[in-house]
Amino acid sequence: MRVIIAGGGIVGLSAGIAFKTIGWDVLVCEQAPEIRAAGAAIGLWRNALDVFDELGVGEAIHAIGMPIETWFYDAAGARYRAPGFALADHAFTLVPRPELNRLLADAVGRANIRVDTRVVGFDEQADHIDVTLNDGTLERADLLLGADGAYSAVRAQLLPGHAAREHSGHHVWRGMLAAGDEPAEGSVLTVGHRRTRGGYTRTYGDQVVWMVNQFDSATPAGTKKDEALIRAAHLNDNGWNDALVKLIERTPEAQILHNPIMFVPPLPRWTAARVALIGDAAHALSPHISAGGTLGVEDVRVLVNAVTKQGDLAAALSAYEANRIPHYTRVHELAYAVELARDAHEYAREYATFSHWMLNDGYRASRAG
Ligand SMILES: Cc1cc2nc3c(=O)[nH]c(=O)nc-3n(C[C@H](O)[C@H](O)[C@H](O)COP(=O)(O)OP(=O)(O)OC[C@H]3O[C@@H](n4cnc5c(N)ncnc54)[C@H](O)[C@@H]3O)c2cc1C
Repeated sequence: MRVIIAGGGIVGLSAGIAFKTIGWDVLVCEQAPEIRAAGAAIGLWRNALDVFDELGVGEAIHAIGMPIETWFYDAAGARYRAPGFALADHAFTLVPRPELNRLLADAVGRANIRVDTRVVGFDEQADHIDVTLNDGTLERADLLLGADGAYSAVRAQLLPGHAAREHSGHHVWRGMLAAGDEPAEGSVLTVGHRRTRGGYTRTYGDQVVWMVNQFDSATPAGTKKDEALIRAAHLNDNGWNDALVKLIERTPEAQILHNPIMFVPPLPRWTAARVALIGDAAHALSPHISAGGTLGVEDVRVLVNAVTKQGDLAAALSAYEANRIPHYTRVHELAYAVELARDAHEYAREYATFSHWMLNDGYRASRAG
C-alpha cells in the first residue's frame, strides 16, 4: 500500500512516520525547497507527546523540549490558576519548531520526502488515486493525505468553497533570540488590557521565545517591532513586565514574525474514498488555545488506528471522520469560550476547562478511534 502526503509540516511528517510504521510506502511532498517550519517554538501537550512515544521519536523530542507549567498573569503581574484543576492541566512541553520538523523528517527518511514538490490535484479511481504534482507528473497511490495546512490545495479540490478565513482583527507577533537577563522561568502567559495576551519563556539551546497577540486589533500600520511593543504595553502595568518589552526591543525587525490569523471553517466532511484531510488542512484553529498542532498529531493516531483496524480503506476513512468531526465541534466550543474571556481569571478558568477536556475526554476519544 502507498500513501502520498501533501505537506511536510508537523502533521504530514508525523503521518509519514506512522504509515511507515504500519508497513506502507510513503511519499511526503513538500512545496518548500527544504523541510522547515514557520514560527519559533510549539507547545506540545501529552496528547501529541504520547503519539510521538508510540512512533519511537518521543525520547528525541523530549531531549529538545522544555517542560512548562502555565501560570496566567494579569496586566499588573498577579498570577492565577483556576481552582479545581490539576497541575497536569497546565503542563506542556515547548519544542523549537525547526528542530522538531528536522527530527521528524529524519524519522520519515529523507528518501521518502520530495521537496520543491507541490500537490496540485488528484483523480480518484476505483482501485487507486492519481496525484498530480506541480511539474505535471502523476504519482499513483492508494491514499492521498491533505496535510497541506490552512491553504490546502487538497481541501480546495475536495470541498470547493471552504477556503481559510481571516479571524478578523486577530494578530500575532512572535520572536526567538538568545537568552539575556530576563527571569529564566518566563512569564508564560499574561492576559492584559484591550484583549491582548503575551509572554515569553526559555527554550532549547538557551533561546527565549516571546509572543504577543491581540483580538479586535486595529489594522497594524507600523513596523512589526513597534506594533508588538504597542501590545506589550497592555501587559505591563507599572513596568512589572519590562523583560518582555526588552526582549521585543532586542529582536531584529527581520526576525519578528507577524501573522494575521486564519482559520478553517467547520467542514461537512474530511474524506472521500481515497483522500483524507488532516491537521490544519482540516481544522486550522485560532492559536490562542496553542493546541492546533497537538490535535493534528492526534489526528494521525486516529487515522492510522482506523486503517489498521478496518479491512477496507473507505470504511477506515469514514471511521476517522466520524471520530474527528464531533471532536472538533467540541474544540471550537471550548476555544470560543477562551476567546471571549474578559480578564485573566476568566481566561485561566476557560483555558483550564479546555486543556482538561483535551487531556482527558478528548485524549480518550482519540485512543478509542
Ligand atoms: C502563532 C501560532 C502559535 C501556535 N502555537 C501552537 C502551540 O503552542 N501548540 C500547538 O499545538 N499548536 C500551535 N499552533 C498551531 C500549529 O502551528 C498548527 O496547528 C500546526 O503547525 C499545523 O501543522 P500542519 O502540519 O497541519 O500544517 P503546516 O504546519 O501549515 O504545514 C503544512 C505544510 O504543507 C506545505 N504545503 C502547503 N501546500 C502544499 C501543497 N499543495 N503541496 C505540498 N506541500 C504543501 C507547507 O509548505 C507546509 O510545510 C500555533 C499556530 C500559530 C499561528
